[in-house]
Amino acid sequence: MKVSIDQDLCYGSGDCVYRVPSVFTVVDGFGAVLPGREDAGADALVREAAEKCPSQAIRIEG
Ligand code: SF4
Repeated sequence: MKVSIDQDLCYGSGDCVYRVPSVFTVVDGFGAVLPGREDAGADALVREAAEKCPSQAIRIEG
């Protein structure tokens, strides 16, 4: 499953990076998925990060 971040919603809180630093990072003040980790959407920690993102900016699909 794919994971991505909607940068129109993200405000760069960094919560996702704190929770799953192996998948998320912050670039130019916004959350981002690390290159090569876009397929990590099925990971339980990634799902939890999506649920707890304060702006609901993390998308999991596929
Ligand atoms: S937790 Fe949500 S709002 Fe915060 S940096 Fe990550 S995607 Fe952006």
